[in-house]
Amino acid sequence: MIHTPRPISEEWLVDYAAGAAPEPVAVLVDAHLSMCPESRALAARLDAVGGAMLERIEPAGLSAGALDRALAALDAPLPAAAPPAPAAAGRIPAALLPYTGTDFGALAWKPVVKGVEEVVLPTRGAPTHRMSLLRIVGGRAIPDHTHYGDELLLVLEGGFEDGRGHYARGDVCAADETVAHAPRADRGTDCICLAVTTGPIRLTGGWARLLNPLLRLRHR
Ligand code: ZN
Repeated sequence: MIHTPRPISEEWLVDYAAGAAPEPVAVLVDAHLSMCPESRALAARLDAVGGAMLERIEPAGLSAGALDRALAALDAPLPAAAPPAPAAAGRIPAALLPYTGTDFGALAWKPVVKGVEEVVLPTRGAPTHRMSLLRIVGGRAIPDHTHYGDELLLVLEGGFEDGRGHYARGDVCAADETVAHAPRADRGTDCICLAVTTGPIRLTGGWARLLNPLLRLRHR
C-alpha cells in the first residue's frame, strides 16, 4: 500500500514560499513537497498569495480589498489535481541528490549509538543549521532525548514511531525543546531520515551526563 504523507506544518511552508528558508530547511521542505500532494497544493496557494500581495503594493500602496482577496485565496478549495511531483532518481527526492548522490549505501555512515548511524551533509550558507541522514536499524531507537532548538525529521525509507505518532515515507516529524521522544524504527526495515536541526539533542536517559557534552561538540 502506498502511504500518503501528512502535510508539513504551514509555518515551515510560509518561509519556504517566501524564499526565506535556510538552505537545509529548504532542501527538506523541497524533498517533502516532492512526496506530498497536499503540501504542494498549499505551497502553490501561498505562492499565489505572495504574488498577489506584491502586485498590489505598488505604486499606491496596498488597496483596501487586496489583502482580503489575498487572504481569501488561502481559504479557497484545494485544486482538483495537485501539480505533478518533480522528477526524482528512483526513490531519492531530486532536492537531495546534489548532497547525497544516488546511492545512500556509498555514503560515509558513522555510528552514533548502537543501531543508529549518521552521515553529515555539508551545506554552504547556513551555519546555524545542521543537515544529515540518519539510519535507524529496524526495531532500534534513538535514545530518549529532548532538543536545544528545532529538529525536523523527514522519513525517506521505512518508518518510525515516537510516542506522538507514526511517521512513514514523506512524513515530517517536528520537535523542539518542548518535546521529549525516542524515535523507534519499525521492525524489519531500516529507517532512513533526512534530519535538519538548529541545535544538538539532549539525552534524558542513562549516560546523559557523559554523552551530552560530546553531542554538543558534534553539532558543529
Ligand atoms: Zn528528536
